[in-house]
Amino acid sequence: GASSGSEQASGSGEEAAPPAKPDAISGEKRIKIGFAMDTLLEERWKKDRDLFVEAAQRLGAEVIVKSADGDDARQIAQAEAMISQGVDVLVIVPHNAEATAAIVSKAHKSGIKVLSYDRLVTNADVDLYVSFDNVEVGHLQAEAIMKIVPKGNYVYIGGADTDNNARQFKEGVFEALQPSIERGDIRIVYDQWSKDWKPVYALENMLEALKANGAGGIDAVIVANDATAGGAVRALERYGLAGSIPVAGQDADLEAVRRIVDGTQTMTVYKPIGRLAEDTARLAVALAKGEPTGATRRVNNGKIEVPSILLSPIAVDASNLDGTVIADGFHSREEVYGKG
Ligand code: BGC
Repeated sequence: GASSGSEQASGSGEEAAPPAKPDAISGEKRIKIGFAMDTLLEERWKKDRDLFVEAAQRLGAEVIVKSADGDDARQIAQAEAMISQGVDVLVIVPHNAEATAAIVSKAHKSGIKVLSYDRLVTNADVDLYVSFDNVEVGHLQAEAIMKIVPKGNYVYIGGADTDNNARQFKEGVFEALQPSIERGDIRIVYDQWSKDWKPVYALENMLEALKANGAGGIDAVIVANDATAGGAVRALERYGLAGSIPVAGQDADLEAVRRIVDGTQTMTVYKPIGRLAEDTARLAVALAKGEPTGATRRVNNGKIEVPSILLSPIAVDASNLDGTVIADGFHSREEVYGKG
């Protein structure tokens, strides 16, 4: 885990940052970063929090972390509190892409720049977006599954439609599937979002798909992340189909990586969170100091072309687990394969 500053007090979503003090060597005022997170539910977000706080502290900055637990009003209130506490820059993981636009204009009124972390705030003058190439995530999922099932009936189970990433993941999947759909090789027999990324809705979606198409009517399942893929696999288990229908997920969550070892999930998309956290910490400090960020990409968010930095996601299946997730120390060999 991270050093003191990143720990979440139980239940409240509150967290105390170390007190601001001028840097002993340079005498410069410490940069204060507000990190407004949506949730800590999926395994990855705890890594994001810990690695971001560590990276920012290494740069001499301090971080105030809040998690909104999936509540839009709470996320806006938390960001407002950070603005009045005088943060120098706001880093936000929006729960709802649209609703958080209000935060951006409030921050700007106080002269505070806003960095969109992993998920894009839409219809707002976001100063910088740092993420993975999320359309590419969808490509990687579809390409991996098409190698195994070049022809057949596909189920798509999406994430939260309030998350811009969920839309980009889906766009990537369908872009890659499109030629096969046009040839008539692949048919989409089910396609549904899973509200708030909840695994229980993915489970319900998968059960609905199985009921509508019959157990023999589904050849492949692409699910937007690993937590929801877990829900889909539980539904397949009820039909005795876990392990016989390819399933794709995303995040390289430990549970999912274990399912890959067991054969009940085919692949995941690994996103090295450490790089995202470190790059963002460095860029947040640059934004706070008014320095250039070197953003080379532009992503349209409905209002502007947001200066963006997009890292590359990596497709992972049983064949390259060791050289990716384990080699990076994202999970230990023991965690993945057990002690045996
Ligand atoms: C992230 C995924 C994550 C999902 C649910 C997305 O915006 O990119 O990595 O699994 O949210 O939290």
